[in-house]
Amino acid sequence: MEKYGKEPKAETVIYDSIIIGAGTAGITSAVYLRRAGKTVLIFEKQAVGGQIVFSHKIENYPGIKSISGGDYADALYEQASALGAELAFKAVTDLSVCPSKSGIDKPGIFKITADGKEYFAKSVVIAAGLRHKKLGLPEESALAGLGVSYCALCDGAFFKNQTAAVVGGGNTALSDALFLSSVCKKVYLIHRRGTFRGEERLVKSLSHKPNVEFILHSEVKELSGGQSLTAIRIFNNNSGEYSELKTDALFVAIGQKPSNSCFGGLVGLDDDGFIITQQACNTKTDGLFAAGDCRQKQIRQLVTAAADGAIAAVGVVEYLNRLDGD
Ligand code: NAP
Repeated sequence: MEKYGKEPKAETVIYDSIIIGAGTAGITSAVYLRRAGKTVLIFEKQAVGGQIVFSHKIENYPGIKSISGGDYADALYEQASALGAELAFKAVTDLSVCPSKSGIDKPGIFKITADGKEYFAKSVVIAAGLRHKKLGLPEESALAGLGVSYCALCDGAFFKNQTAAVVGGGNTALSDALFLSSVCKKVYLIHRRGTFRGEERLVKSLSHKPNVEFILHSEVKELSGGQSLTAIRIFNNNSGEYSELKTDALFVAIGQKPSNSCFGGLVGLDDDGFIITQQACNTKTDGLFAAGDCRQKQIRQLVTAAADGAIAAVGVVEYLNRLDGD
């Protein structure tokens, strides 16, 4: 990849492909496309690696016994960089098909708007991932960054030797609680049901930690604090009782949701906002593909994101060959 922050060639160049998102899916597409000799620009609004940057440890990717999310993201960057993909840290705000552009007589050129500038490509891979879900409590936004956090790995160290609560029952909540148990004096794991959705292996590790306590059948209903979070109000949905829990931090790990609305004109979205794709990761618009967590699928893991990235890239190459052969 060209250097971080290097200005991409707005309006002067038509890339073979623009990739939206530099997570596992997007970077895999970039690697395959560069190896096929295609010009590639990747837009990323946050960090290379996407959500995985915030994972303490990855231990389910074939061939890698254990790696931190940060090291894995660095490796993604190095690989795409060595192959010559361009990367720009800009948020894409619009995507449309440009029927004609001066000097271009072929239809189907995509126009991508990012940070107010327009960029052009013959094909696009949307690999925009997901964003954190919020509890939806009235005080949540005001206390975000003041005790309420969506990333234990980023913010956990601020609560060294203090009390933290994690809400959620999936792998993220379990991994967050495990990480925090090595940083905080006490960790509460609050889940709305009696069994966890996440892996048994993680539940077992947590149950052996003396400073971790499970609070099950429970929902966080209220956040209290002025300058920072001091306590949360919990509703036990088994007993119907409310209780107050004093805590310095609340890590919200209740899943993620897509943010695909700015692509909605060119792709079909399901009821949950995920992009509907066909087997080759192609969407309803020719030349427009979707890969990774942002598309409708059953299993969202690194390995399936990488698979999507490769499938989408092969589809792009076939599409470009057809386009250039016309
Ligand atoms: P997830 O698997 O969707 O779990 C979300 C959890 O939050 C569920 O337990 C859910 O409860 C709970 N929840 C949802 N909405 C809630 C609300 N409004 N209030 C309270 N609780 C709520 O999400 P995730 O844990 O972020 O994981 C996402 C994907 O990434 C999964 O496929 C996961 O396996 C993967 N992941 C993998 C690793 C790894 O180490 N390999 C690490 C992190 C994530 P219910 O169970 O009752 O629905």
